[in-house]
Amino acid sequence: MKETIDRLRSEGSERIKAAATAADVEAVRVALLGRKGEVTLLLRALKDVAADDRPAMGSELNRLKVDLGDLLSVRDLELSGGSRGDAESFDLTLPGTSPSAVGTNHPLVSVLESICDIFYGMGFSRGDGPEVELDYYNFTALNFPDDHPARDIQDTFYIDKKVCLRTQTSPVQVRYMERIEPPIACVFPGRVYRNETADASHSAEFFQIEGLVVDENISMADLKNTVDTFVKNFFGADEPTRFRPHYFPFTEPSVEVDMQCMVCRGKGCGVCGQTGWLEIMGAGMVHPNVFKAAGYPEDKYTGFAFGMGIDRIAMLKYGVGDIRLLYENDLRFLNQFRGVL
Ligand SMILES: [Zn+2]
Repeated sequence: MKETIDRLRSEGSERIKAAATAADVEAVRVALLGRKGEVTLLLRALKDVAADDRPAMGSELNRLKVDLGDLLSVRDLELSGGSRGDAESFDLTLPGTSPSAVGTNHPLVSVLESICDIFYGMGFSRGDGPEVELDYYNFTALNFPDDHPARDIQDTFYIDKKVCLRTQTSPVQVRYMERIEPPIACVFPGRVYRNETADASHSAEFFQIEGLVVDENISMADLKNTVDTFVKNFFGADEPTRFRPHYFPFTEPSVEVDMQCMVCRGKGCGVCGQTGWLEIMGAGMVHPNVFKAAGYPEDKYTGFAFGMGIDRIAMLKYGVGDIRLLYENDLRFLNQFRGVL
């Protein structure tokens, strides 16, 4: 059979080359690859070949079929005047037509993805949760007392007594921990909602990214190192960061994280309100009550969590002065990010 294949390969390509019209090409195609073509008959005869030789013969024969098919298509193209080498009918040096409008990612999406990429590089995975959330996950499981002001209808969009639009990405932490045993290193980006009056720095909807690391012996030092690595990679400079003590119900101790203002390098300017520092995220060590809500054994694990506003980070990096610009979909604004992000 091997000899027949070799013969068909050389004879077949000769016959294809010799074809002078489209009808000739078609005739050769039928003679070789048609239902009763030589290659087709050979494929059918494959079942009579010794079992040991069959796989090798089969693949040889298939390659022949594909190669002859390609040669036939090329010859067909040459005869129809569409040859890639036919300089008279097709001038390769002519400039092409560029599409007039090409879509691109919204700057917030690009920033979100590049933030996630940095955390992937540190071994984090990515999780997701619902935007319409139970009050339990948004508040109770995160150790918010019943009378906490954030639960107030003035801050939270409630759908009914037990269901609200999530005000933060933190509830995904609890949902995730309920399902997954440590070690955990995961980021949860997404849209959140607050009942705020829109102004230059507030919007009723915005984006956050939450990070969670849980294992045995995780400490504040791990948090600091993670934050520093992120700032260095995202802002592209070695700006120092600092922790300021703060309060969040779901972390203890809690901190707000500042990075040195990259505009004035700490000297004080309009962007940083003359302080030399810019607040970039809230963070802390996961509160034991949150581990309890997730069903983890007491005192076995420690972990840290952080949350930052993606809008704020994007505004800081690209010098955007008004958050509303990010939601108005004004192409004059959006087009400035084309090719930058
Ligand atoms: Zn500054």
